[in-house]
Amino acid sequence: MRRAARARIDLNALRHNLSVARAAAPGSRVMAVIKADAYGHGMREAARALAGLSDAFAVSCVQEAAVLREAGITQPLVVLQGFKDDAELVEVVRLDAQTVLHEPGQLACLESSHLETPPAVWLKLDTGMHRLGFAPVEAAALVQRLRTGDLVAGHPGLMTHLACADEPARPESETQLRAFDEAVAGLPGEQSIANSAAVLRMPAAHRDWVRPGIMLYGASPLIGVSAESMGLRPVMTVGAPVVAVKPLRPGDAVGYGGTYVCERPRTLAIVAIGYGDGYPRHAPSGTPVLVRGHRCPLMGRVSMDMLGVDVTDVPDVRVGDMATLWGEGLPVDEIAEVAGTISYELLCSVGGRLQAEYV
Ligand code: PLP
Repeated sequence: MRRAARARIDLNALRHNLSVARAAAPGSRVMAVIKADAYGHGMREAARALAGLSDAFAVSCVQEAAVLREAGITQPLVVLQGFKDDAELVEVVRLDAQTVLHEPGQLACLESSHLETPPAVWLKLDTGMHRLGFAPVEAAALVQRLRTGDLVAGHPGLMTHLACADEPARPESETQLRAFDEAVAGLPGEQSIANSAAVLRMPAAHRDWVRPGIMLYGASPLIGVSAESMGLRPVMTVGAPVVAVKPLRPGDAVGYGGTYVCERPRTLAIVAIGYGDGYPRHAPSGTPVLVRGHRCPLMGRVSMDMLGVDVTDVPDVRVGDMATLWGEGLPVDEIAEVAGTISYELLCSVGGRLQAEYV
């Protein structure tokens, strides 16, 4: 079934945003993070668009790496969560992907695998985020173990991930950098630390490879700083048609629960997109929606496949007009903030459900 709601994906904007990342970290190679279907933008299309521009692609799991290889992508691929068992390890090698190593079971797997062609690996160190990674004090011994056993191709890369880079005032990023530097001192592998926020504001974290994700899609990685002010352009614009327009009288209540009650006569437009399409149900009354270029406030609760918008101040709104929910002219960061979430979640949520149109 095809919904009329659609996500227009501007691949030129994607390429432009990658060039912003490159310019911000001129001494580093770029590993574009296109996991989770390129944050909802379509992983194959994003990879093809960036193929000549990105030095590598980072995906979440072995299955995503397989999708890219099947789509003909030949760039180096890095599997951020690595493999979980022997079969996935064999698949990593078959796909000629690089894998992250972050837990002891993976080492045991490598040691018992007797692979003819060992994979290139990144050793992930947990410098303070407490998600994936080995303790920094283990780094030197792990590298030694991997190299003496000839378990991996070349020197293991050395990486970590920052927990608070989006909040410049917090001290944790510096602490993580210090922990990383202490752990890897004297080790020969290439290094990678920076996500988008660190690409844009922490040159000390740039190292050999940067790993930008959200900034490629034109959303801001820094709390309180607009994407536009950093030269980023929105890649996804979500639109949906107006399917009804009706007058409301004072006292009329709109939508489930009747949470919005008109004080004055209003004109209501019903737009055919809702939480079933990935639009956030928690977007409150007042959340902006663009109709005929005007910012109009959401009225009442978001339904599964519809929402109401106050178009009183917009002349001539008609059934069939396309409303913009975010993207060009309406930053996704603004909608995320009023809906109490982050741009990452909004972009991933609509991706895959709406018809994508690549331009
Ligand atoms: N590196 C790793 C390990 C990640 O998990 C992610 C995203 O979650 C990124 C880089 C990219 O982060 P961002 O989208 O904030 O740039």
